[in-house]
Amino acid sequence: MGLIFGDSNTNINGLNINFMADIANRYPENVTGKFYVDNQCIDCDLCRETAPDNFTRNDDGGYSYVYKQPTTPDEEARCKEAMEGCPVEAIGNNGP
Ligand code: SF4
Repeated sequence: MGLIFGDSNTNINGLNINFMADIANRYPENVTGKFYVDNQCIDCDLCRETAPDNFTRNDDGGYSYVYKQPTTPDEEARCKEAMEGCPVEAIGNNGP
């Protein structure tokens, strides 16, 4: 059985698991705006590699957060790519 990341809700053995980022669990370091990282982040580095102008690392906590919202179409595309590539769906785009 494979997990299909990208589904916001996946039913596994009767458990309804939510893989979508949750705005209620967003890290406070995220700057205001639509993209954010929540506390599911496993510090894999993908978003920082994909969108280095927007994502950075909290070295003490060992997780990523958004330090600048995208301001160009290129940055927007990179943030979207990071969100879609995040292995644990810790990136959301419905932020404040
Ligand atoms: S891609 Fe996801 S899990 Fe990996 S560092 Fe970024 S937010 Fe964290």
